[in-house]
Amino acid sequence: MKETQAEILCNEKLNRRYRHMKVKISDWNVSEVNPGQFFHIKTTEDNLPLLRRPFSIYRINEDNNTLEFLYLVKGVGTKKLEERKPGEILDILGPLGNTFTIHQGGKGMLLVARGVGIATLSALAFAANKADIPCFAVLSARSKEDILVEKELNEVGVKTFLVNDQDGSSDPESVRLIAEEIINHRQVDSIYTCGSKRLSVLSRELSEEYSLFAEIALEEKMGCAMGACYACVCDVREGDEIRTIRLCQDGPVLPLKKVVF
Ligand SMILES: Cc1cc2nc3c(=O)[nH]c(=O)nc-3n(C[C@H](O)[C@H](O)[C@H](O)COP(=O)(O)OP(=O)(O)OC[C@H]3O[C@@H](n4cnc5c(N)ncnc54)[C@H](O)[C@@H]3O)c2cc1C
Repeated sequence: MKETQAEILCNEKLNRRYRHMKVKISDWNVSEVNPGQFFHIKTTEDNLPLLRRPFSIYRINEDNNTLEFLYLVKGVGTKKLEERKPGEILDILGPLGNTFTIHQGGKGMLLVARGVGIATLSALAFAANKADIPCFAVLSARSKEDILVEKELNEVGVKTFLVNDQDGSSDPESVRLIAEEIINHRQVDSIYTCGSKRLSVLSRELSEEYSLFAEIALEEKMGCAMGACYACVCDVREGDEIRTIRLCQDGPVLPLKKVVF
């Protein structure tokens, strides 16, 4: 983990709510970054807001040593971040956190993502492509316009299935039908989820019913991201015990069966 002064190459609007940022790393190699990890980003050049904000790595480009992020413009920090311009320097701390488990030689993976949860899972999809593991992704969003990076995923061979709230296709029972179709007709031995409690519960049910390896990337409000402030705690089940963990230290990727929703 290091504090890096990264040059902003682009910070463009994808749609009404989301932005895409690309930064250039000059002093270390981005091959150190792995899917599931995140960076704690100082959104402004002054200290307002004081706290950094955590963002998952969306894309790791070893050819030109750049990193990409997708973010939802939400509150004070991300509103400041969207004002940052190409050429400016962004202070990023990371890579932080653990990574997804990729089974080399795995039959296939199913990603179940809601909203900007696809940022975190895309890094995994790109890695699956490199490892020749077939990848299927259910992308859920409020509206058709809010579906992110479908084209980029299709370009690397990910088969995407789109659902949204507006046409009623995103409720868990409809997503279950799509997921079961994928599991039953293609070779899938793992499931990964991010971005929705309801879809995480569904993913866990599917993993149990179809004996799939299952992981989740969790998000909690985060303060220091170094384990000191205990802002990002969540509960996990271990045997008969419930244990409280700090997501920045023990996550953000967790075995899906352990998480207490
Ligand atoms: C591991 C991880 C990965 C993420 N990846 C992405 C991503 O790829 N894309 C994306 O859009 N979003 C991602 N998020 C969510 C993103 O970090 C938040 O949406 C963002 O921090 C919102 O910042 P804001 O200032 O705009 O919103 P606000 O709601 O105004 O501020 C939220 C921030 O306030 C601070 N805060 C609030 N309450 C507390 C508290 N009790 N203790 C400590 N600090 C507090 C924290 O810094 C918190 O992050 C991720 C979150 C985590 C934990």
